[in-house]
Amino acid sequence: MATMAPKQTRPQVRQTQCFIGGKWLPAASGKTFDTINPATEEVIAEVAEGDADDVDAAVDAAREAFDRGPWSTMDARDRGRLMNKLADLIEAEIDELAALESLDNGKPIRDARNADFPLVVDCLRYYAGWADKIHGQTIPVRGDYFCYTRREPVGVVGQIIPWNFPALMTAWKWGPALAAGCTIVMKPAEQTPLTCLRMARLAQKAGIPDGVINVVPGYGPTAGASIVRHPGVDKIAFTGEGSTAKIIQREATETMKRTTFELGGKSPNVIFADADMNAAIAGAHFGLYFNQGQCCCAGSRVFVQDKVYDQFCEQIVKRNGQRRLGDPLDPQTEQGPQVDQAQFDKIMKYVEYGKQDGAKCLTGGKRFGSKGYYVEPTLFADVTDDMRIATDEIFGPVMSVLKFSDVDEIVDRANNTEFGLAAAVWTRDIAKAHRFAAKVRAGTVWVNCYDVFDAGAPFGGFKQSGIGRELGEAGLANYTESKTVTVSMT
Ligand code: ADP
Repeated sequence: MATMAPKQTRPQVRQTQCFIGGKWLPAASGKTFDTINPATEEVIAEVAEGDADDVDAAVDAAREAFDRGPWSTMDARDRGRLMNKLADLIEAEIDELAALESLDNGKPIRDARNADFPLVVDCLRYYAGWADKIHGQTIPVRGDYFCYTRREPVGVVGQIIPWNFPALMTAWKWGPALAAGCTIVMKPAEQTPLTCLRMARLAQKAGIPDGVINVVPGYGPTAGASIVRHPGVDKIAFTGEGSTAKIIQREATETMKRTTFELGGKSPNVIFADADMNAAIAGAHFGLYFNQGQCCCAGSRVFVQDKVYDQFCEQIVKRNGQRRLGDPLDPQTEQGPQVDQAQFDKIMKYVEYGKQDGAKCLTGGKRFGSKGYYVEPTLFADVTDDMRIATDEIFGPVMSVLKFSDVDEIVDRANNTEFGLAAAVWTRDIAKAHRFAAKVRAGTVWVNCYDVFDAGAPFGGFKQSGIGRELGEAGLANYTESKTVTVSMT
């Protein structure tokens, strides 16, 4: 990925209303909510607080665009062309978009500029390429019949996303849905609505027809739940917490909606003594502290072989001491604040649990500064498998380091979790790496690397980390229905 110094840009907040049927509208109730700058705890903007009435209007617009409008009947190649146009417009505004993301979420602008948005653009281009490559099959059935399948768009899709990668999650959801010919009602997270709304404006500018993309900002139990319950919505794609997913799954059953979920994790990152230790230390550090630890696939259970355990911990402590925390809009900043007070409080609670359960806090564990939701990069050593910091998703910059000695024990310990999103292994022994990759119960396994994403490579969870896959051809399959057509040839 090309890294570029982000330009110092003071982002403009331009879109704060609901985007429904191509129009920017206040919430029907007239209500708004504040979106907060996590670095200063100050209000950035008031955003329309959408609710059931706004969701009704958005679903009507999406249904109209799907059932009678141009999207599902447009030549597939033209859909792809419009998606590429959207990607181009995002790329043209990448500095400003990165700054807006940084302001709203608190992530360092260098990450937003060099990771999030290049991946956004790439994802949209990848799926633009799929738009005219979604094929059915011909089936050699018995008798004098011609039988074929069509892969049709699933219809109106409700997409509910979290706050940790607001723009990237928007792209992961829009890309396959648009390529398949679906229309969209999206609810961004209440903490971070701004870049999704901006991307909706750019979609309109790109010429994506009115009603194809609708965005209703608001809260989960109101706006989100209204999307899930709405009989006019055919499918729900959700990324967020498992507890929320279980509510959604129950609600969606009423109308037999298709559902896909990308949920949490407690991913094992296994470092063998025969690994390239410099690479393993750098990779483990990145794999946990990237994005303030707010990654569903964070390598938060780091298993280190006994011979290199002390060396590993020392080096992580050293790196944490050098880490630059500060203003997310400063291009030098490596770590920003957590997204909100609730996340800050949760992390601090787990720091206490770590201490109560007998782990050793080698560095961090405290608030950084006096303003903003900053948490020092934190390292717990001497962590055992049953401690709460080893079993629960913390979603913060807290690394739990566990010791192992035996190759045979490590797969069972890595799999001893309700989650199964990602895993990593560091070793120079290629057979050992493949054996681990085959046995670990996780949707993604990284060997001698971490957090390597590509729009073409499927991502999603085993066990309670989710249902279905995003990205790649697998991600596209969630947005199509198969239709069998049988024609008498007599
Ligand atoms: P996180 O801890 O990442 O915020 P959540 O699962 O709480 O995870 O939130 C993810 C998304 O789900 C957000 O957009 C949120 O508003 C939405 N959400 C929360 N509760 C519900 C619900 N009951 N129904 C639908 N969406 C919800």
